[in-house]
Amino acid sequence: MQYKTAKGLYDILPYGSKESWKLTSTWHYLEKIAYEVSNIFGYEEIRTPIFEHAELFLRGVGPTSDIVNKEMYLFTDKAERQLALRPEGTSSILRAFIEHRLFETRKKHKFYYLGPMFRYERPQSGRYRQHYQFGVEAIGQKDPCQDAEVIELLNQFYHKLGLKNISLEVNSVGDLTSRENFKTAFTEFLRPHFDGLSKESKVRFEKNPLRILDSKDPHDQALLSGAPSILSYLSKEAEDHFSKLIAYLNELSLPYTINERIVRGLDYYSHTVFEFKAADLGAQNALGGGGRYDGFLPLLGGPNLPGIGFGAGIERILMTMEKQKVPIPFQSGPLVYFIPLGETAQKKLFQYLCQLRRLGIPADMDFQVKKVHSSLSHASAINARFALILGDRELEKKLITWKDLTTSEERQKPLEHLIDDLRNHWKNNNAI
Ligand code: AMP
Repeated sequence: MQYKTAKGLYDILPYGSKESWKLTSTWHYLEKIAYEVSNIFGYEEIRTPIFEHAELFLRGVGPTSDIVNKEMYLFTDKAERQLALRPEGTSSILRAFIEHRLFETRKKHKFYYLGPMFRYERPQSGRYRQHYQFGVEAIGQKDPCQDAEVIELLNQFYHKLGLKNISLEVNSVGDLTSRENFKTAFTEFLRPHFDGLSKESKVRFEKNPLRILDSKDPHDQALLSGAPSILSYLSKEAEDHFSKLIAYLNELSLPYTINERIVRGLDYYSHTVFEFKAADLGAQNALGGGGRYDGFLPLLGGPNLPGIGFGAGIERILMTMEKQKVPIPFQSGPLVYFIPLGETAQKKLFQYLCQLRRLGIPADMDFQVKKVHSSLSHASAINARFALILGDRELEKKLITWKDLTTSEERQKPLEHLIDDLRNHWKNNNAI
């Protein structure tokens, strides 16, 4: 039997992948930018386990959302605990924040995370059963300036990665009063059209009518064209919050459109919700999104602190970069690849190899040379700068052959200067 990844999963390989977004070097590049941008904005990394008590997500994300209701990977451990692979990041981070009483340590908290999320969805391009997210959570500040900061962070992340053709959509789902008022008006509007709604929307009509707004069903979409806008039902406070956010975005000259249909899938949002979309992605065009979740912490048994965050799908970012042919900085291979011809040469070169590595110079070596040309083609495959070949006769003369793999030039140099020569070359070409 030949084993393959389970459905909806994929591998990230150091080489040999036809799609560049599945190459480790591409991921390293994205992760580096994520760390850099987070650091510039003063966000610190938080890492939580990939599974939690299922109850956390049922309580937090809410049982009416698809990711909990239909898509969660649930399992029972040997002690009959109900556990779930995390479908999203926020619940786990707030759990850790409350569990470790971080709220007692300072007045505002800014976290970022990078890691896999699990959702049992129907796989298609850009939709996987394990996908990665880069996300942030800013806890403790209610001011709309905090919302603008979080949106600007994600915008800068996309910008630094070199993404083009992306758009930002913002909306407000208001506070509880605004939402209740809107819900009444919205269900009144929908009631006469109930029979024409999709099966899924009929269920949502009872459980969480707001979610009908982001239905992808074309009939639902058509029905919604005359629907009331949530923005007309915002309380004074919610309206004030939203208009201040819009003013901040205008001042930043950050292009956006207001999309009254964005409510986001999760139940815990309040006030600001936003989404970035990529024009080049086709059906799965949501690049990343988030929103404010004042009231979520108390729901999980924590203090009454406001928060806002986002989750950005990494696969979709990298796929967009591949489509747009965004250049990824070239990852260089080792400075040297040793090719010993004979046992004595191998002993000698192994010493040099370890010496170079102890000096912090990337070096590698063939431990079983059969044909020099196959060792040389391996040296090229790993992007080595020089291949250094040592045979018994050269060893007697205390010489070693250097082959420059960028120019294919070959020459012999004294063995005794080898480490100094390589060290100087490394110093001159790499700032250390
Ligand atoms: P969400 O919490 O559903 O808004 O997800 C945040 C981001 O993660 C989305 O904007 C997508 O970019 C990405 N995402 C969500 N689900 C998947 C999935 N199944 N496969 C790949 N990316 C996903």
